[in-house]
Amino acid sequence: MLIDSHCHLHDPAYEDLRGALARATEHGVWGAIAVGCDLETNVRTLRAATASGKAVWPAMGFHPEWHHLTDEDLAGVESQLMANHAWLVALGEVGLPWYSLEGASDAAERMTRGRRHLGRLLDLARRYDLAVILHAPHGAAVGALEALKTHGIDRAVFHWHKAPAEVTRDIVESGYVVSVTPEVIYRERDREMVEAVPLTSLLVESDGPWPYKGEFEGMPSGPWLVTRVAEEIAKIKQTPVDEVIDQIGANTCALFDLPWS
Ligand SMILES: [Zn+2]
Repeated sequence: MLIDSHCHLHDPAYEDLRGALARATEHGVWGAIAVGCDLETNVRTLRAATASGKAVWPAMGFHPEWHHLTDEDLAGVESQLMANHAWLVALGEVGLPWYSLEGASDAAERMTRGRRHLGRLLDLARRYDLAVILHAPHGAAVGALEALKTHGIDRAVFHWHKAPAEVTRDIVESGYVVSVTPEVIYRERDREMVEAVPLTSLLVESDGPWPYKGEFEGMPSGPWLVTRVAEEIAKIKQTPVDEVIDQIGANTCALFDLPWS
């Protein structure tokens, strides 16, 4: 069975959490790693996991693109992590800003602050032995990779991964994994990435409730979509879909230290 490695179950789109998880099961998806972005969404994420202990594994994070978050907010999230680490499978989502730097007059300053924040969070992930779920697209990926190494992190996923091919190679060779969204069905860049990365280094995710295009246009987004992602990976890799699902399931369990069944 598959697990969605990145879903925002704290979002009001999943108010009917039981319904969402039932829909996922119907599509052969066991559950989801639930990520948080700030103090409030972290609390809601933990609540979702408490309500669905067998299908939701919680992470707490500090979203790098949410530039309204202050140093005080970071201190709050650090306290949350210290208080709740025993229930968490990961730190996430965290990372470095990229999209929010576009056109910002203080872009360099924001990146410096982002690096400082990420460093503090990675220190906690190391202390509590948590996997790390990174948001570090495009030009942010190389800095995030450096930060993982500097801070001695050995379990991490680059979520919705997109980066120059040589950076992706370095990520995989360093023992980290990358995750793929439904965009792989209609975006050439993602297909090339899947072709280049070994199956043992891939995860699948919905990043729900993020909406997708192509065959998903107008459809609600959530963990149920990852089966379709695995099918597409199977086509690209020319590997039987059952093998792909088994391997990705095993990759997910290994990264988040979940019992494999
Ligand atoms: Zn996300």
